Amino acid sequence: MRRFELERAITENELVLHYQPMVGVPTRELLGVEALVRWKHRERGLVSPLEFVADAEATGLIRQLTFWVLREALLQSNVWRRDGLGVTVAVNLSIENLHDAHFARFLELTLKVAGGGEQLNAETAARALARDPEPPVGTLELMRARNIRVTIDDAGEDDAHILESIPADIVKVGRGLIAKMGRDHRAMEFVRTVVAAARERGLTPMAVGVEDQTTWDLLAGMGFAGAQGYFIAPPMPAAELAEWRAARV
Ligand code: C2E
Ligand code: MG
Repeated sequence: MRRFELERAITENELVLHYQPMVGVPTRELLGVEALVRWKHRERGLVSPLEFVADAEATGLIRQLTFWVLREALLQSNVWRRDGLGVTVAVNLSIENLHDAHFARFLELTLKVAGGGEQLNAETAARALARDPEPPVGTLELMRARNIRVTIDDAGEDDAHILESIPADIVKVGRGLIAKMGRDHRAMEFVRTVVAAARERGLTPMAVGVEDQTTWDLLAGMGFAGAQGYFIAPPMPAAELAEWRAARV
């Protein structure tokens, strides 16, 4: 991906957010949504974040990308709130953002213009936190002081230890483990360990990547409070979320 192309995507509004519902286990009530960025590319159509977020991190464009995502997500959550659909929006932050000296100021300004932190949830990858020699604890604490809930995202087999040291509210068990939990005894045991560790620390455990009824049926017994996945709903444009919600009540 060429840098200028990605830069154009950000400045010329070629990015778009899709939102994936997160629901309660076992009630299926809507708890919130996760904002997931896509690139409406002129030639290539809708491009997955897996194809450009790493480049944005490597080139420093992640600052602009995240600032765009945060603002857009908060403005959308205001629209939903006005329409009577009060949902919190979870935004994915790269570890680079949390170490960015401009981040805190941008966040304060955005919250001032676009509304309070109660509507916002900040997700950061467990892997990146685990590898960080100096995890950005101060930034996470600052966000929590602004009522933003912090999620340790995509927790996998090697990341359980960071639950001890990272200030957070939610831990999401990644798709890699959830998808194979039903047929892989080791994955199941590991998920149990993470959920128990999360509960012990007062963190809310959520499952990501629930694709079928069998997996869904396991969640409550394992202690999960919430879940997201294609079994419930895929990520969708903002306009479709209201329809999705309306169709369920
Ligand atoms: P993530 O934060 O772990 O988000 C969950 C990913 O799993 C999303 O992929 C979602 O579409 C996918 N997913 C959810 N349920 C299912 C399921 O049941 N089956 C399958 N096969 N997939 C499911 P997506 O949208 O491609 O995003 C991939 C990753 O890109 C995200 O993983 C996140 O790490 C990153 N990302 C997305 N948006 C942003 C952003 O705005 N900023 C940053 N820094 N990273 C982002
Ligand atoms: Mg996430």
